[in-house]
This record gives sequence, C-alpha cells and structure tokens, in this order.
Amino acid sequence: MNTLQLKEIFSSRHLLCTCFGHKLYVKREVTPNFKEFKCSICQLELTNDEQGAKIELTPHLKEVNETLLQFYFKKHSHSLIAS
Ligand SMILES: [Zn+2]
Repeated sequence: MNTLQLKEIFSSRHLLCTCFGHKLYVKREVTPNFKEFKCSICQLELTNDEQGAKIELTPHLKEVNETLLQFYFKKHSHSLIAS
C-alpha cells in the first residue's frame, strides 16, 4: 500500500465523520465530569471542557486530565479512609 492509498482511506474516513458525525466512545473516565472520547472511525480524540462541550484532546489537555485524575483519585481515596 502506498502513501496515496493511505491518504485516500484517511480522507474517506474523515469524510464519513464529516457527513455522519464521529462515532465516539468513552476512552477513559477522568472524573464523573471529565471524560476522554475517541472516534472509532477516524481515531480523533476528544475531551470535554468545564461547560461540557466536546473539544479536541491536545497533548496539553491530556496532561491536564492526567493531573485531574491524580487529584481526583487522591481526594477520593482520602474520603474513603475518612469514612
Ligand atoms: Zn471521526
């Protein structure tokens, strides 16, 4: 398979998503309010912001989510010990 064929596949997949919308599934639940999503067709990764709107998962946001996850886990495990 050459690069051109790969490009065609990618663009046709992207076209599918453009026409029918992304087929998103929850890749990871960061906190009950923050989730990471992935499109099973074009592999696009998304997350949600404070307002619940879906935004592209950039490397920076991945880091933010990682930090959130650690904070949430710590808080959660502390409250478990306290109760
Ligand atoms: Zn997609």
